Amino acid sequence: MRQQLAEWDQAGREQAAIRAAEQHLMQPWPAAEDIGAEARMYLEQAEGIMVEDGAGNRLIDGPAGMWCVNLGHRHEGIARVLYNQAMELSYCSPWYTMSKQAVELSQRLAAHAPGDLNHVFFTTGGSSAVETALRFMQFYNNVLGRPEKKRIVTRGGAYHGSTYLSASMNARPRDGDWMDQARDLVLHLSEPKPAPGLDAAGQRALTARLAQEFRDLIAREGAASIGAFVAEPVQASGGVVIAPEGYLREMRQICAEHDILYISDEVVTAFGRLGHVFASEAVFGIQPDMITFAKGVTAGYFPLGGVMISERLLERIRQSNHPEACFAHGLTYTSHPIGCAVALKVLDLLEAGDLERVRRLEPLFRARLESLRDLPIVKEVRSIGLMACVELATGKSDAASLAIEQKMGKRVDLHCQKLGLLVRPLINMCVISPPFIIDEAVIERMVAILREGILATIADLQAEGELPG
Ligand code: PLP
Repeated sequence: MRQQLAEWDQAGREQAAIRAAEQHLMQPWPAAEDIGAEARMYLEQAEGIMVEDGAGNRLIDGPAGMWCVNLGHRHEGIARVLYNQAMELSYCSPWYTMSKQAVELSQRLAAHAPGDLNHVFFTTGGSSAVETALRFMQFYNNVLGRPEKKRIVTRGGAYHGSTYLSASMNARPRDGDWMDQARDLVLHLSEPKPAPGLDAAGQRALTARLAQEFRDLIAREGAASIGAFVAEPVQASGGVVIAPEGYLREMRQICAEHDILYISDEVVTAFGRLGHVFASEAVFGIQPDMITFAKGVTAGYFPLGGVMISERLLERIRQSNHPEACFAHGLTYTSHPIGCAVALKVLDLLEAGDLERVRRLEPLFRARLESLRDLPIVKEVRSIGLMACVELATGKSDAASLAIEQKMGKRVDLHCQKLGLLVRPLINMCVISPPFIIDEAVIERMVAILREGILATIADLQAEGELPG
């Protein structure tokens, strides 16, 4: 042990860390060829919107960690709350106690949530929030005496988590290739992705087609077998896919007509990413039956998530013929007082100006990213709030070109890293979702680096003969 620490104290500790990681650290989403034997970028420090790698290079945190470090790194005020809460009440069991912080947070979230979503069940993150919402739907239908109403509708391009039931909703390319999913429980609809540049009439036609697809699915499978529809308001990890105008309202309406619970997965979009605490109603005009959230709720400082649940659903359970039925679901860290205290601080900060700041920066952020459209490999730029995706394509559709496209996001990211920007590469896409504390000058700098990174990738592809010179 002593020897290892000594090694880590030396100037070469990045190398030591890489060796240790390759021997002991299993990373998320590893490829089989280097599972358990892989190192990733080694970070030692971060401040504001910058992270610092092991060699001391400072990079703009383009993805805000994983869409979560929304108020920046090393936030003094949040750090104090963590410390103070740990000293005041570091933990209490949600089985038989409750903290002031959890109660106060539930009250404040209820005031922000749409309609009658006035209850919250706290979890440890996004997957456990989605898992909770789905298990709640199962319990609800069991108590109402319709145990067959359990199947869940998801959409192509969706990402809802990494626990078994939440992961069963994932429908991006390759999500289910090597992993089991509860396929008998899941029904699939198309990805709600408009073609680049689709005009208003085209958007309306697409919405009508996708709504009809849902109606056809219900007619075919039977509403009596379908318990829930789960949808991200904007498909985040699918590549910032913004559904066509009116689509979410249509889907909401269809769910209401068939007593199918609408679960809005706001793990990414809530807590300011779109300029509001919850985006479902404020941005998209819908009142879901449940809203799942995580990530931004603690701005990445503590693992916390939750589900907002409609009073109407709880009342139906309370009024059922099964007063003894138990929602046998809960986590040791449900309602964790430190997480709730941090979330209260984050809400204070969002309400005091950061929500407004996102709304103010949104047009500039979009305009600057859209300026990349003149580059020959930029196929589309999608942007809403402070989240955006630059989709890349070679313009050719032969197998070799498609194989190159699979790695294009990564190639751009590697160039951008050298220039001082972290990008989240996703197959042929680059996702950008910076901390809200970004300003106009850093947006300009970020987009300038992205442009340089894409130009360098074009130059590489030309040198390899993959693109015309
Ligand atoms: N739902 C959505 C929409 C997400 O984007 C994610 C994670 O990226 C999750 C759920 C899972 O959240 P977590 O990784 O906190 O379990």
